Amino acid sequence: MSLRTVRFVVILSIIAGSSTSKAFAQNVPASRDFDAEIEAALRSAKTAAGFEFLGTLNRNCLLPASGGVNTSNNLPGYVSDLTTVPAREVWYADAAKVFDNLYFVGGKIHTSWALTTSEGIIIIDTVYPYNSEELIIGGLERLGLRPEDIRYVIISHAHGDHIGGSQILQDRFGAQVVMGASDWDLVETYPNRYASMAPTRGIVATDGMKLTLGNTSVTIWETPGHTPGTLSYTFTVFDNGRPVNVAYSGGTAFNFVNNTPVPGIENFQSYIEAQQHIADQAAATGATVILSNHSEFDNAVNRNRMLAGRGDGPHPYELGEEWVQRYFQVMQGCARAAQIRLEKEQAEGAVF
Ligand SMILES: [Zn+2]
Repeated sequence: MSLRTVRFVVILSIIAGSSTSKAFAQNVPASRDFDAEIEAALRSAKTAAGFEFLGTLNRNCLLPASGGVNTSNNLPGYVSDLTTVPAREVWYADAAKVFDNLYFVGGKIHTSWALTTSEGIIIIDTVYPYNSEELIIGGLERLGLRPEDIRYVIISHAHGDHIGGSQILQDRFGAQVVMGASDWDLVETYPNRYASMAPTRGIVATDGMKLTLGNTSVTIWETPGHTPGTLSYTFTVFDNGRPVNVAYSGGTAFNFVNNTPVPGIENFQSYIEAQQHIADQAAATGATVILSNHSEFDNAVNRNRMLAGRGDGPHPYELGEEWVQRYFQVMQGCARAAQIRLEKEQAEGAVF
């Protein structure tokens, strides 16, 4: 500390005066300005989001999080009572060829992707059991692809909006389903909840695993947080023959216990570190495209509309390496703000 800084601190202490001595009298450690830290984290997320990632910013920095994990073994309404299935216009979106070897076969809200290879198709995430038939199987057929060629189905995490169609694809086409160990455990812990959606245990993904089919590989990264077994990926697609590297973020919202300091602070830490892990892999592979399994986060449905009018212009999904990093900074900034709120709660609990 320089002499000048020391003088400054001394002056500040004098100004702070009585409140400082009162704090010391109560044995309160020099306190953090939690509110300022929360605001700084939120602002860092907002700056990182720019105009590209407002959906992710909105969901993670603004909207209330669910506050816990689903421990019910009940069959979801959309399986037990088909009258509760949302109307088709709520979820239907046209399938689209996005890159030479990557096709969008998802819906307006939840997405699903088909990566074509020399030896068949890899499906990345499925949608619900009620719309997989039309969106994935129907979408492939409308694009001139054969659903019978599906060899692998990689599920980012075991929530009904992503695992929903995997049993159909396993039963009908013999596809091998790939998922994280903890999420396979979830499926087996709640058999009733997953009835009609859950495939029988297939390939257990591990960090850095390369799933290769013919001339194409997907590298799988463990990114625990959204669920304990959440997976993210890096892989290469082609745009008129030019290789383009993709980072795929497998779980976004704070669907873990996040409303009490224990274990919330630790849960947010896992989430933040997991985002750094996939961000590092994205940087190492030079990823210029960020994909997700919700259009809310990667704007897939809007970008698909832009594809038709692209002409010789840039690819609407290709944002550049810096923006891919910024995507993960949004997730981390929002998670850090929520984590500091819990740190504040814990500190206040310790005083009184
Ligand atoms: Zn989820």
